[in-house]
Amino acid sequence: MAKDNAPHIDTLLQHTATASFNPATGSAPVNLPSMRASTVRFQNLDALEATQRRKKAGERAATYGRMGMDTHAALEQVFMQLEGGTHCYLASSGLGAITMAMVALLSAGDHALVADCVYGPVYELDAALLKRMNIEITYFSADDDLEALVRPNTRMVYVESPGSLLFQMLDLPALARFARARGLVLACDNTWGSGYIYRPLELGAHVSVVAGTKYVGGHSDLMLGAVVTNDAEIAQRLNRTQYAMGYSVSADDAWLALRGVRTLPIRMAQHARHAMQVCEFLAGRPEVARIYHPAWPGDAGHALWQRDCTGSNGMLAVELRLAAPASRRFVDALRLFGIGFSWGGFESLVQWVTPGELARHRYWQGGEHALVRLHIGLEDPRDLIADLTQALEQAAAA
Ligand SMILES: *Cc1c(COP(=O)(O)O)cnc(C)c1O
Repeated sequence: MAKDNAPHIDTLLQHTATASFNPATGSAPVNLPSMRASTVRFQNLDALEATQRRKKAGERAATYGRMGMDTHAALEQVFMQLEGGTHCYLASSGLGAITMAMVALLSAGDHALVADCVYGPVYELDAALLKRMNIEITYFSADDDLEALVRPNTRMVYVESPGSLLFQMLDLPALARFARARGLVLACDNTWGSGYIYRPLELGAHVSVVAGTKYVGGHSDLMLGAVVTNDAEIAQRLNRTQYAMGYSVSADDAWLALRGVRTLPIRMAQHARHAMQVCEFLAGRPEVARIYHPAWPGDAGHALWQRDCTGSNGMLAVELRLAAPASRRFVDALRLFGIGFSWGGFESLVQWVTPGELARHRYWQGGEHALVRLHIGLEDPRDLIADLTQALEQAAAA
């Protein structure tokens, strides 16, 4: 929602990252160029020292290329506008952004509560890095009594809403009240919402983490992450951690993300519309046991979605009354859906979710059923539905 006098985010996204006029000619290209730099050059020592003073005072002032120049600064602004934050730190991937948040906010001996529906590689981050740093994680599900899981050394609650794979809606405002009452930091992976259809900071989270790789970039051709907050103390920790870990994002990737994000409003709306049409089709098929898509009225999280989200996207999962071999035939028979991880690009994708991935999510009650995750792209939904129809028939035929 636009605040009084503040332009709507759709307007901001078209008026951001424009190039400044050349004072000599009074002209400029529309778009800020990709400003590639390792070295920043100063006219004289006074200029260098003035920049260092601004940087020390907490301003975004570049003395070296690692944190990026104007292209990066513009992209940080975009993430802050999307998420409603005051500080943004870029990472070279979404997973890198999650790692930055974890390492910035947790120290040896700390404990964190992590929702069991988080993005799978977070489990690997825990196993490969956090355990070695003597940081302990307890995975919880939405109906656990969190109070019973809190320890004296608990520092953070980390969630993803809607969750990965099954799009389980969590009650973020309730989690925020819980965390804030106990002095815990609440961080939320907001790749699903990307600041456009879900705003964790407004719902009470301290930190929002986004994989810009997905809907912000929107074209399946870049890797990028961002950590956004409106808490000055958390920002300082993120800033120091980002610097110490040597994070750096290519100016070209930042530029591509800026290019992609201008069409986020129309892409997101179209993905959401097409996904709803696919849900309607799937709901009429005998092979379909359950649809996981919070905007779908039959989804268990639909009421939370209505309360907390301002829109939807192209992500859905479908539980099939098919054994593994038939569900694999279904996936292989699809022609318009690429078999691949990731999502948020213009194209449709399918992922055959392994039983091992599902076993972590207590929200999964599908037993022997198969789960297939779909990203509904910008193709004509009638073609996608025809493709799904022929693939379901092939799965049954063999
Ligand atoms: C893809 C994804 C990430 C990681 O982003 P990368 O840029 O691929 O590292 C994090 N969270 C969620 C929910 C994702 O889907």
